[in-house]
Amino acid sequence: MNFLRRRLSDSSFIANLPNGYMTDLQRPEPPQPPPPTAPDRSRQSGAQVAGGFFSSITNAVKQTAASAGLGEQSAGVPGRRSRILLVIDEPHTDWAKCFRGKKLQGDYDIRIEQAEFSEINLIAHSDGTFAVDLQMFRNGTRVVRSFRPDFVLIRQHSFSMAENEDFRNLIIGMQYAGIPSVNSLESIYNFCDKPWVFAQLISAYKALGAEKFPLIEQTYYPNHKEMLAMPSFPVVVKIGHAHSGMGKVKIENHYDFQDIASVVALTQTYATTEPFIDSKYDIRIQKIGNNYKAYMRTSISGNWKTNTGSAMLEQVAMSDRYKMWVDMCSEIFGGLDICAVKIVHGKDGKDYIIEVMDCTMPVIGEHQVEDRQLIAELVVNKMNYVLSKTPIPSPQRPTATAQPQSGTMKESEQSKIPAQRPPPQGGPSQPQGLEFDQPPQSVDKQEPPGQDRHPEPEPLGPPTTAAGSSPPSVGQALPAVSRVETSPDHQMDPPQKTQPHPQLNKSQSLTNAFNFSQSSFFRLSTNEDEAKADTIRSLRKSFASLFSE
Ligand code: ATP
Repeated sequence: MNFLRRRLSDSSFIANLPNGYMTDLQRPEPPQPPPPTAPDRSRQSGAQVAGGFFSSITNAVKQTAASAGLGEQSAGVPGRRSRILLVIDEPHTDWAKCFRGKKLQGDYDIRIEQAEFSEINLIAHSDGTFAVDLQMFRNGTRVVRSFRPDFVLIRQHSFSMAENEDFRNLIIGMQYAGIPSVNSLESIYNFCDKPWVFAQLISAYKALGAEKFPLIEQTYYPNHKEMLAMPSFPVVVKIGHAHSGMGKVKIENHYDFQDIASVVALTQTYATTEPFIDSKYDIRIQKIGNNYKAYMRTSISGNWKTNTGSAMLEQVAMSDRYKMWVDMCSEIFGGLDICAVKIVHGKDGKDYIIEVMDCTMPVIGEHQVEDRQLIAELVVNKMNYVLSKTPIPSPQRPTATAQPQSGTMKESEQSKIPAQRPPPQGGPSQPQGLEFDQPPQSVDKQEPPGQDRHPEPEPLGPPTTAAGSSPPSVGQALPAVSRVETSPDHQMDPPQKTQPHPQLNKSQSLTNAFNFSQSSFFRLSTNEDEAKADTIRSLRKSFASLFSE
């Protein structure tokens, strides 16, 4: 006993315990242990041997957590059954609010756990057990939680080379654990390399032809070596996988092209080139379940990237053509519940499809609240569907701990094997604000003749949804025009309340993002250490009092 007491009050011993070991101890005892599988048996036998002794420790740990005020943030109503939805997003969107009042079939509550990728860790076993751990600061308090989500909604880029944020390991972990999600984890993983996604668009282009699916011409270079010459200029060079306009450079001549090729050589990643389209505006067609919306974005500040600097945003009518494009794109990678197609509309009157975005697409414009509601409803429907096929006991309440915890996992809905992808590369980007205060700009409706030309989109009066869709009515009057300020695409998610930065230009915004990223990166490492140290201290205290009794 003395030996155990010494060992359990030794922080290095606790720190060196295998992942999930201590946290296993604090899980409430299941009323009826499931019939053991082979790997379960070995795990359970240890737990059973330790049963009574460790249940005392478990209680002590729980008391410690409770006294720290942890474990209550997402606790459901006592006595009510609930399912846990993990939402991966930045904190500016309060998803608990979006899901408020929503229930699952069987009168289950939905308990929201929201965190950013950088705050998440997980452990998954091949026998289907897994646990997700969160370490985060909320209202100045460090919160450490461990739980088993029933479903995950992913709204944050899992990968970009821009900010040393590569979270593909977590996507793999969630897939390994079989956690159902929106969009599918396979598709999210596949979206981690833009040329890989573009390859899907090439298939659609080949199937439909240039008239029906006007994909922009693009050339892919696995590295800088073949970047020797271009037939014509200007071109746009897109380096690696990054968002918000990062890594996209307009090149005017051969000399500049050689220069940028030398930069690509240093990045050790791929690059693509596209003809530069002298554009009038961008179009974004979004699809959330069966709800469709289209937006026109026109640069005000003159930046060739309409998602950099100031731009005007205006909702436009959904044409059959737009619907066909986004429907086509929503079929890739086994189906995308949420997606958006980006189009550059040239001054030559032609549309050029440049990209498809996945469930990380920001909600923009005047209908952000409605769009978040649509996403919430989509998730509820998916959860009902998935969970009805996987009847399992209600997940237990989250526990407060710094150690990963393994848990019982239901069968995965997702048995598809993700397509193979290029090996991992670099890290992501982020945010900005919006400001909508500019009157609608009239669109030049004069169309030079040409068989590839298409009518200008009609600015919308009332809210537009595609046939068959029935979104919740959120304000019938549609103030169709918005002004975007310094808002790379996914930075448009924060609603208008974001402070405007009229003077912010591209280089400033990139610099800010970079600084933020670095500080958050270092903050994370420090926090992890501090959290571990705190937990160890708490555990030691608990054990000390336990053994001194
Ligand atoms: P995301 O943030 O959606 O991941 P991104 O913003 O980093 O992507 P793109 O959407 O490819 O990258 O490019 C940014 C902007 O640059 C587009 O919104 C468009 O305005 C402009 N653009 C991109 N490609 C071209 C092109 N070939 N010709 C003209 N303008 C372009």
